[in-house]
Amino acid sequence: MRNFKGYGNRLYKVKCAVLAASVALTSFSMTGCFETRPPRVSHSYAEEDVKPGSPTEASPTPTATPTPDPKFEAIKLATQAGLTEKDLKGQYALFERYYDVVSTNPNLNGYREFIYHLFPIIADHLKSENEEYFFDKVRSLKIIENHTDGIDGQYIQSENRVEVEPGLTEKLGEGAYSAVLYHELMHFIDLNIAGNEFSRYLALLDDGTIHKYCDLSYPERGHIKSYLYTYLTEGGAEMYTSEYFTHAPNSYLIRVRFMVALKYIFGAEKIDDMFFAGDTDYQFYELLKANEFTDEEIAKLFKGMKNSADALKEPKTLIDPREALIRLYIKNVGEEYEKDKTFCRILGTMNFDADLNKIPSDYSKFYQKQSAIPQEVTVQIWGYVTNYVGNYDVQWGFVGTPGPLYLDGQLKIVIMAAPMEGPMLDYKSFIADYDFEKDELKDCTLYDNWMPKPLDGSTSGTGTTTSTSGSDETTETT
Ligand SMILES: [Zn+2]
Repeated sequence: MRNFKGYGNRLYKVKCAVLAASVALTSFSMTGCFETRPPRVSHSYAEEDVKPGSPTEASPTPTATPTPDPKFEAIKLATQAGLTEKDLKGQYALFERYYDVVSTNPNLNGYREFIYHLFPIIADHLKSENEEYFFDKVRSLKIIENHTDGIDGQYIQSENRVEVEPGLTEKLGEGAYSAVLYHELMHFIDLNIAGNEFSRYLALLDDGTIHKYCDLSYPERGHIKSYLYTYLTEGGAEMYTSEYFTHAPNSYLIRVRFMVALKYIFGAEKIDDMFFAGDTDYQFYELLKANEFTDEEIAKLFKGMKNSADALKEPKTLIDPREALIRLYIKNVGEEYEKDKTFCRILGTMNFDADLNKIPSDYSKFYQKQSAIPQEVTVQIWGYVTNYVGNYDVQWGFVGTPGPLYLDGQLKIVIMAAPMEGPMLDYKSFIADYDFEKDELKDCTLYDNWMPKPLDGSTSGTGTTTSTSGSDETTETT
């Protein structure tokens, strides 16, 4: 098919570039922290840090001054920020505080609208005990353009700074550019929303046991063999970027699908709580322990999740993430995973990295034969894309392959598509209602409305106009 063959250089480059962002994040961690010691998340509360509009509130006065309606005020501010009442999720007072912090941060010029648009995630996941810490981080967050060494963006935790490659809008188009920015901001949220958390990093000791780094003191720290981390940071950042904004991932596809499979097995709430916690990897470790994985197996799985060329030199020292999913399914859902067509289909969408197949597993014969979204369904989705594109001369391509994603609690099949030439690539997401039992595509809609409208003083989008203006969340393509 043209669409597959035409997985053009530019699209591939985007994916690589975005992919490279993770490498940078990782290598930052490695150099900044892991080689010497895990990161110290340091922060300080400014003494004068009393926020206007926060708990100083309404000291009750005998005179009947009408108290402003927080809902009315919040909606007014939300409108100025480009949000809807629905985005506030009923948390009016919290939004007023958030608005105040974001609007007075001097280092967000040109990006402020993106930060306002993070509010629904914050409303969903910020616990009140972490509010002060997190808002402090929002207050000091910086976003700059900087040459990021061949990658598109990164979040540097120690500097509390997001960096994006200069001219990224022109290079990628606004759809992909904002997807990159949201992905990096999701790292910002992930690393700060749970407060000042020191228990983020896991250490593997010489004796094969795994511990939270913060629980270790000397002499144990002298016996650290390596640090362990999982898919969940990058897979989660991309999955939640997709859930809240783009509605389809454009990087880390296997990791996103792993996260979707976890949601399928354990339910969204448990996985949401795990990702937005401060000790995500440890919680995942505990989950595995509770499901009869040994420390040795967990270390092998975490190494398998790195999926690096180095690790694949010794495939016997790894466990394939797909094996982990099957074992977790058996323990939590039941023995008959082979008959669960939805689960098998999710596994099938993780099958495009042939290197992973080198990892030995009792289950490998099974998961390797699972197929991705059937070709005829992909062709049908392509029909919606071409229908949308009309008679343009420019050829379009898919970014990766169609895969599963939960949107509003429903499991959909999603994919991004983009023109493969032209001064600006214009990414669109396509969301399919899919009957996993019958392998039938029921409907497919276009979504391209994730780019926030620029606010005053914003530089993003200069010289171009966004192609989207509709307020509808999804536009039918047929
Ligand atoms: Zn990332």
